[in-house]
Parts: sequence; structure tokens; C-alpha cells
Amino acid sequence: MKTRIRKPREKEDDRKAAKTRNFTEFPLAKAVFTVSVHDSRELPRPGAPEIAFAGRSNAGKSSAINTLAGRRRLAFVSKTPGRTQLINFFALGGDGFLVDLPGYGYAGVPGEVRRHWRELVGGYIAERPSLAAVVIVMDARHPLTDLDLTLIEWLREAGRKAHVLLTKSDKLSKQAAQATLARVRRDLGKVYPEATVQLFSSLKREGISEAASALARLAAGKNKAPAKGE
Ligand code: GDP
Repeated sequence: MKTRIRKPREKEDDRKAAKTRNFTEFPLAKAVFTVSVHDSRELPRPGAPEIAFAGRSNAGKSSAINTLAGRRRLAFVSKTPGRTQLINFFALGGDGFLVDLPGYGYAGVPGEVRRHWRELVGGYIAERPSLAAVVIVMDARHPLTDLDLTLIEWLREAGRKAHVLLTKSDKLSKQAAQATLARVRRDLGKVYPEATVQLFSSLKREGISEAASALARLAAGKNKAPAKGE
């Protein structure tokens, strides 16, 4: 189990952010890094409900987490996408945990890393009793990749709640963004009708209050515990 060393100033920034920011604008403001794990045997004991963020490498997941937390470097914006296979846990000040899952689908990643992702993330989704919901971050220009659909299939099988952020929406015209939203809603409706979808932009800070409502809704009802061992 690895604990990231944080500079005192970063910690101070975190404390200030948590104190002064409101939920609608910064729904993850209370997030404080707790632990990183590389192996499912190292997962912390299940406790308060967890909302996990997943997404293809480079989709904009770290940026979305940082935007929702009102922090610049809470989740690390990737330098070498697809290489970091860690699950990062952040405590949400008594309101459960934010869980940052490793990215997937980056070209050129060795087979071993891909297998590790399947095992780590697949296992977490199938078996984690405290997992309440998963936010799937997709680049609005390339939504519903094969691995996004694999992830959605795991979520459906495990009966997890899911919400999709179509991020980088600033890269599309208003019209194209709305058309993408409608198309993803329709396509997702065929495979996982319970999942909800919205447009999001970290750059333009768009879709934040909608994401805050989604997070509140996802956190409100914990999923039933998975079947394994029951
Ligand atoms: P991750 O690998 O999914 O965590 O993706 P990152 O958050 O590291 O983002 C990947 C790249 O996309 C970075 O260069 C970000 O600056 C950029 N990016 C992330 N979110 C947005 C967004 O909303 N709009 C735009 N234009 N770029 C973004």
C-alpha cells in the first residue's frame, strides 16, 4: 500500500478548499487523499459508500475530478497515460469516499498492464461491497469505445449505478455536443438504460451543478452488496 507524500502547502490548500467551497460548485471539495493501492488484496476495509471515477486514459478524468474538487492537483493529470495502475482513495469528510480508478485503452500499453486493469478494476466493480456508483468519464468526441462498453457491461452485471460525463464538450459546437448527448443517451439506453448522461467541460467549467446533482443522487442510495460470499 502506497501513501503519496504531499507538500504542506498542498495540504493547506486542501483544507481551505474544503472549508470555503459549496457543494453545487465544488461537489468534491472535501476530498482528502488517503491511500493508493495496486492490488485488490491491498484494498482498504470496505466502509462508507464509495463513488468511483473510471475512464479511458486521456479522456479527462483527472481534470474532471480536479474541477469538481476545486483543486489543481488532487488527481494527477496524466503525463504517461495508461502506465499508472493504481486505485486512489480520497475521503470525503465523513460523506464516503471518492475512488479514482486507473485509466484504460491507451494504445501501446503492454498486455500485462491490460490484464492487470481487468483484474483490478473488474474485481473492484464485481465485488466491492461499499461501491455505491461509478462515474464514467468519456471524451465527448470519442464516446462509448469498446472498453467503455466492457466497463458498462461489468456495471450492469454487478447492478451498479452509473453516470456518464461526456467531457471536453468545449471541443464541440453547441449543436454537435447536443447531438452527441442524444446519441450516447440512445445507445446507452440499449445496453444500460439505468445509466444517466451529461455534457461536461473542465476547461469551461460547464456541467458542474448537473454533476453535483448526479453525485448527490448516486451517493444517496447505496447499491446492494454483491452476491459473492452472500
Ligand atoms: P485522464 O487521463 O483521463 O485523467 O485525462 P486528463 O485529465 O489528464 O486530461 C487529458 C488531456 O485532456 C489533458 O491535456 C487535459 O488538459 C485535457 N482536458 C481535460 N479536460 C478537458 C476539457 O474539459 N476541455 C479541454 N479542452 N481539454 C481537457
